[in-house]
Amino acid sequence: MSGEAPLIAAIEAGGTKFNCALGRGPGEILETVRIPTTEPKQTLEEVGRWLSLVKSRHGAFAAIGVGCFGPVDLDEKSQTYGYITTTPKPGWQNTDVLGGLKNRFQVPMAFDTDVNGAALGEYLWGAGQQKDPLVYVTIGTGVGGGVLVNGRLLHGLLHPEIGHMQVPPPKKSKAVMRRGQCPFHAHCVEGYVSGPAIAKRWGVRPERLPVDSPAWEEVGEVLAYLCMNLTLTLSPKRIILGGGVMEQEQVLSMVHGAFIKLMNGYIRQPEMNAKIGDYITRPMLGANAGLLGALALGRMAANAAAGRG
Ligand code: ZN
Repeated sequence: MSGEAPLIAAIEAGGTKFNCALGRGPGEILETVRIPTTEPKQTLEEVGRWLSLVKSRHGAFAAIGVGCFGPVDLDEKSQTYGYITTTPKPGWQNTDVLGGLKNRFQVPMAFDTDVNGAALGEYLWGAGQQKDPLVYVTIGTGVGGGVLVNGRLLHGLLHPEIGHMQVPPPKKSKAVMRRGQCPFHAHCVEGYVSGPAIAKRWGVRPERLPVDSPAWEEVGEVLAYLCMNLTLTLSPKRIILGGGVMEQEQVLSMVHGAFIKLMNGYIRQPEMNAKIGDYITRPMLGANAGLLGALALGRMAANAAAGRG
């Protein structure tokens, strides 16, 4: 990226660690740090101190972007805007993530879900360039998705919770435990194919399941339903599937095969068949998607403030 791009502080707030960076884009990261997610006060204080430190080394940054695990409150008119709300993570319910940063740094801030951030990052710099609407889904410890439409991240009543989309129970499942593992829903995507759900249902951690395990066909089919429903509701130009579970190389082609069968020729576009590999793809930013996503959020805030000014 050019040196003209504004200097941004990026925070990828995750359930196990807060990844922070100071930079201008993927090719220009000046500093990074990993801060373990302990209890909120301590973690957020450490993040604030680190940002002050890098500010003293590199000068003022133009904005802060935060991509946060959730659920979060994204409604700027709400009293709890910038809060993590009902997370199952102990100690983190009703945590004001932005408040301390606002007291410390008087710069524009953007706050969004980690997956919305990743969607924006892939759109700007990765596998989603020129693809609008764009959906980014990560399948890992949980299943979450971000949506970009008309150049903006989709918020709404709350924010998309794509991972909890309902799907038919996998047919003739050979899993040790056939039922879905989500405590809220019997038949949602996350309950069938998140890493922990795979481990519970098949009795083996996903990374230890053999490549030819029937588990992977099932993961492919569940994700094909997810992609079909996304296609039919949002009509995206591309769907990006990332996260630890997708690191199993064989899964993506299984999703492609099952998706084509499920769509059954209903939508006549090359992306639904011959160009399926362009339509449902892997991310390009890899492990950096979350952090670069936060940076992308910060850049958006900086640009918006400059435009207004
Ligand atoms: Zn669920």
